[in-house]
Amino acid sequence: MIRPAKLVKAMKPYALADLPRSKFTLALNESRWPPSPKAESAGKLSICKASLYPDPNWQKLRAAIAKVHRLDPESILCGSGSMELIDCTVRAFADSGDVVLGSQYGYLFLGTVCQRAGARLKTVPEQDYTVSVDALLKAANAKTRIVFICNPGNPTGTRIDYEEIARLRDGLPRETLLVIDQAYAEYDGLDHSKVFALAERGDTVILRTFSKAYALAGIRVGWGVFPAAIVTEVRKLLNPNNVTSVSQAIAVAAMRDQKHMKSNVFQAATAREYISRHLLDCGFALPRSYANFVLVPFADAETAQLAESALKSGGLPPRNMAGYGLAHCLRITLGDVRAMARVKTILQKLVQKSNGKRR
Ligand SMILES: *Cc1c(COP(=O)(O)O)cnc(C)c1O
Repeated sequence: MIRPAKLVKAMKPYALADLPRSKFTLALNESRWPPSPKAESAGKLSICKASLYPDPNWQKLRAAIAKVHRLDPESILCGSGSMELIDCTVRAFADSGDVVLGSQYGYLFLGTVCQRAGARLKTVPEQDYTVSVDALLKAANAKTRIVFICNPGNPTGTRIDYEEIARLRDGLPRETLLVIDQAYAEYDGLDHSKVFALAERGDTVILRTFSKAYALAGIRVGWGVFPAAIVTEVRKLLNPNNVTSVSQAIAVAAMRDQKHMKSNVFQAATAREYISRHLLDCGFALPRSYANFVLVPFADAETAQLAESALKSGGLPPRNMAGYGLAHCLRITLGDVRAMARVKTILQKLVQKSNGKRR
């Protein structure tokens, strides 16, 4: 009998959504709008170099990112998706048995990563579906190795502002690494240079991705800003040659085409305003979203299930939130305004029916 390692045997497999991967759905937070045509051409051209290994130092990609965000290229690491960076950062700084602190509705993948490291994930309650800096500061102590937050959050879509992040950082022990996952930051339309500057303190990491606003989830490229001493440790765990040459070429062209990305974000924001306004008018108490999806709370889990079935029948499957402890909610990725209008109509009918029953 071949025995797995104890740590692995004890792990639960990561729960992937059971959905077709060949077309856009409202369940995976992919971009409804296509990537830059320049990125597509760059990818096609790069295939003729497929016999060569990729640049293990992502030189062009780091230069392109550094130019747009006014960063030092040496502070940037690239990953096979930001998931690889989350994984390697946690494993580099949490020993077996160490505590990693997260937020109640934080990114589920963090739990998997902690299991891989043998670390213990503790979560603190959120307030109105929003990260609570007070709760994190109350729970953190000198033994807390890592505090991990998503801002804007997935699946909540809510955010905390720079002053709150700075208050969190200042209140945490200097020995605690703060990781800020900004997978959706492009969608909030704000300037994040002050957040990036936190990396200069030596104790804070900021993560980004090409999967969402750049519409490149399939090419698996993430990046982050890391303090120098942290770069050294995380690199030991990253796979050498982790980002394919085709993916690097595509990501470089996408980063250089800020105009395209911003126009996609604008269309997403228009759809977000549309669906948010109409659902609020129907009486749904949805938290304000700064991401490419909205979280819709229902009266209870049963109603959420009815809504899920209705949306599925309409060809608009949303994401079930039971795995996040939010069984009464559905997460709906932004599509074009026509798709959002259909979502609105389906949910409105449901509300009218249940109001009718109550009377
Ligand atoms: C989508 C998402 C990511 C991005 O992961 P990739 O590996 O870059 O595709 C990271 N964090 C959160 C919270 C996300 O929702």
